[in-house]
Amino acid sequence: MASAYLDVRASFAIAKITSITSPGPAAHLFGLARADARALGYRDAENSGLSEPPVPVMFADEPELVHGWQDGVIEWESQWEYIDVCSFCFGDHSVLQCPRV
Ligand SMILES: [Zn+2]
Repeated sequence: MASAYLDVRASFAIAKITSITSPGPAAHLFGLARADARALGYRDAENSGLSEPPVPVMFADEPELVHGWQDGVIEWESQWEYIDVCSFCFGDHSVLQCPRV
């Protein structure tokens, strides 16, 4: 089974190697790797029962991948900050709009 984390890590390594000879294209490759890390952070937060899922081992020693992954976790968490939860029926509306009260 292929590992999405390994794919991102390999893409990041290719970006690093590319940056030696071609900084312009490397910046684009770094951006892609970071975006993929962000998508994995979003997915991990969505699938985790933990409030703070652990940073993937494959990203742990690359701060840029850690930050990208954490951005995805924060993105997933932040979408829930403004959703009302009814204290009466736990539906996705405020208690003032609850059809059961
Ligand atoms: Zn309700």
